Amino acid sequence: TISMLALDEDGNISGACTTSGAAWKMHGRVGDSPIIGAGLFLDNEVGAAAATGLGEAVIRTAGSAMVVELMRQGKSPAEACKEIVERIYNKHKNHKDMEYLQVGFIALNKNGEYGGYSLRSGFNYAVNDIEKGNRLEDAPFKM
Ligand code: ASP
Repeated sequence: TISMLALDEDGNISGACTTSGAAWKMHGRVGDSPIIGAGLFLDNEVGAAAATGLGEAVIRTAGSAMVVELMRQGKSPAEACKEIVERIYNKHKNHKDMEYLQVGFIALNKNGEYGGYSLRSGFNYAVNDIEKGNRLEDAPFKM
């Protein structure tokens, strides 16, 4: 998945999400990326979030919409991403295919604060800040 979240100089949020889908997917499978609320969600009053990883797990939790709701309730983008990754982990931790599960989220709020969290290590995201320039950030991870 490649997703992008942006905050413009007027304080408006936008987002986009694209994917090649899952490896060996069934013909006709629809992943999380084209489903608003799952792979991508934004509310211009709060912020935006996007997901990568196993789309079925993200859809089942309405992952990106939940991250935005948690930010609405006062969580930071990083805290909100972490809570939903933990929720997905807890739902799947006893599943036989757990070793194949990866999910990660990025989020951005109206103040320009951002963050990410991943189930597994190695998830990073690019940040372009008009004042501070470009950089890569490593998301914290659970395992
Ligand atoms: N989220 C995508 C899907 O399940 C996979 C990806 O991360 O690209 O379709």
